[in-house]
Amino acid sequence: MRLQELKGIGPKTEKLFEKVGVMSAEDLIRYYPVHYDEYLPPVSIAEAVPGGKTAVRGTIVTGPAMRRTARVTVLATEIADETGKMKLVFFNAPYLAGTLKRGSTYIFRGNVTKRGNFLEMEHPEIIGQGRYEEMQNTLVPVYSLTKGLTGKTVAKAVREAFAALSKGGEGPRLSGEYLPDSLVHLHGLMDEETAVRAVHFPENREELGQARDRLVFDEFFLFVLAMRHLRMLEAETENAFPMKKTWAADEVIEKLPYQLTGAQMRVWREIERDLAGEKLMSRLLQGDVGSGKTIIAFLAMVMAADNGYQSALMAPTEVLARQHYEKLCRLKESCGIACIRPVLLTGSVRAAERREALEKIRSGEANAVIGTHALIQSAVVYQSLALVITDEQHRFGVRQRKMFGEKAAGPDGAARGVPNAMVMSATPIPRTLGVIMYGDLDVSVIDERPARRLPIKNAVVDESYREAAWRFIDREVKAGRQAYVICPMIEPAEGMNVASVTEEIRTIRKRFPDIPAAVLNGRMKPEEKNRVMQDFLERRVMILVSTTVVEVGVDVPNATVMLIENAERFGLATLHQLRGRVGRGEFQSYCIFMAGMQTDAIRERLDILKSSDDGFEIAEKDFELRGPGDLLGIRQSGDALFKIADVNRDRGMLKLAGETAAALMADDPELIREENRPLRERMDAYMAENERNIVL
Ligand code: ADP
Ligand code: MG
Repeated sequence: MRLQELKGIGPKTEKLFEKVGVMSAEDLIRYYPVHYDEYLPPVSIAEAVPGGKTAVRGTIVTGPAMRRTARVTVLATEIADETGKMKLVFFNAPYLAGTLKRGSTYIFRGNVTKRGNFLEMEHPEIIGQGRYEEMQNTLVPVYSLTKGLTGKTVAKAVREAFAALSKGGEGPRLSGEYLPDSLVHLHGLMDEETAVRAVHFPENREELGQARDRLVFDEFFLFVLAMRHLRMLEAETENAFPMKKTWAADEVIEKLPYQLTGAQMRVWREIERDLAGEKLMSRLLQGDVGSGKTIIAFLAMVMAADNGYQSALMAPTEVLARQHYEKLCRLKESCGIACIRPVLLTGSVRAAERREALEKIRSGEANAVIGTHALIQSAVVYQSLALVITDEQHRFGVRQRKMFGEKAAGPDGAARGVPNAMVMSATPIPRTLGVIMYGDLDVSVIDERPARRLPIKNAVVDESYREAAWRFIDREVKAGRQAYVICPMIEPAEGMNVASVTEEIRTIRKRFPDIPAAVLNGRMKPEEKNRVMQDFLERRVMILVSTTVVEVGVDVPNATVMLIENAERFGLATLHQLRGRVGRGEFQSYCIFMAGMQTDAIRERLDILKSSDDGFEIAEKDFELRGPGDLLGIRQSGDALFKIADVNRDRGMLKLAGETAAALMADDPELIREENRPLRERMDAYMAENERNIVL
């Protein structure tokens, strides 16, 4: 159902929704809040501590003072209760002067900050006591927004979508309960429609918890089910490209300027054995940032080449693809491996070059093809593609892999079969959970890091360190180094005091008028992103202000500082991944975690990053600290696999989903029984929708 068919949505609002990826009423229903605003009972002024939204009941003790500058009107006043005083400031709201009369008492709700010894609330909501009591303990959804789109508009549109849904007919649809009744009851799950509704508009924390549980269960369950199903089909597939172990890979290992770590060696042997085996390979290669996954990919490519086959390495960005290509060329030179003949193929390779590359791929003259998504376009015909490797989150699905198989038909037209596949990922998932998700045999883990490089120096700081942080960045850039500045959001969100890329770049350009700075975010077009990254790589940009999109694989060894704004808003795993972007070169590197608010809990959590640089250990400790109860927390970005589920946080649910899927399939492997039919249909739909996310 189109958005415009909903009451109150016109073409303009529809455009705004498109910007955040909501194209239909169905999308809207699944556009879950990123956070909830909770109207907690008011506290006394003495109890109000900086950080988070707080409500206090206070009486106005000084009449409002108005100050105008060219850009803003500031209205200031002071409130008091039996325990203390607090200053209130309002911006561009002169009309409030009438409301803020001395002697009136209200509930004021906003972010408390401390200036000197004085507590201050910036632009609080002003709510009458009676109304506040009604609102108390409700959870108001906070959505990810874009300029022009307000939270109110989204909430209203979501309500309209649900109204249309319950009318049925032409309205949006949820697919209807697909789990067998017995399962829903057994696990005490909420039904799906209630859950989706409640996740937008929960009555209370308890209902939100149950709703979330149900949606998390669904995400895990469908994922595991799909994986197992595909595995089953695959078990019957033969390796159409049997390889022999050759000397070429061993020779590379011998001639490398460093020694492979024990873990790299073990993982390489696993892969070598797979490639030489009779069964089709589907292997997930996991390893922390900087654990050295790339060389493993290259070794596999060398083995394929030495056996007379082609291999392809697909990267999520052009920058990364080019980086890999250049590394492989250098490896070929330095190790003198004649059998491998690399070629680069991306969207921006020029027409003539592209034609040449395509010809070489078709004829087999090139046998190590590196590129982006361009690798699976229809114009690319492989001579004998035996192995496909994808790097960093760039997952690719069954259909894509089958397409490769079809493309792998040689020029003589004979189909050559589905290529072996390896997927490399830095997402730290504890082994036991990885096994539930992917099955035991097919996960290789590099759990050891090359012992070299200067360790990154970390600092956990608050706003009082702001000036020092800017000076530090200035100093590094003057010395020729580069810096990343990371913000949780692209654009400012109403009612949230969180750094956004849009505001941050303005601040930085003002603070450093002579330093070239640029912006990177996930909503930019791929070509734009590539251009910005290339500019950063070639030092035309010295400060890069970005969201977590830089998390993915880029390698700019000259970048030595990372400043992470509102670090408390990110999961530790994400922070660790982000940090992995620095400390890649010969220079000492630094990571500054700027906490927008400092509580003991936040400090304790961020301090984990200071004491450990092991992604697995960090994920583990994060889980221990946060526990599974952190309900209102902002959804973590970066893991496209699941919308709201978090492998670490929701591990209990993951186990339950894994066991449930296993039991179900032991009983009815093909899901052909009558009571499982809706499940089968849902799984098929899920696989079609999440094509790219299901790794095989
Ligand atoms: P990631 O696992 O994050 O993809 P890379 O493969 O990019 O890591 O490796 C990071 C860096 O470490 C590269 O510069 C690579 O050459 C180097 N490296 C890889 N393995 C080793 C090793 N065993 N000893 C020393 N350096 C290594
Ligand atoms: Mg990498």
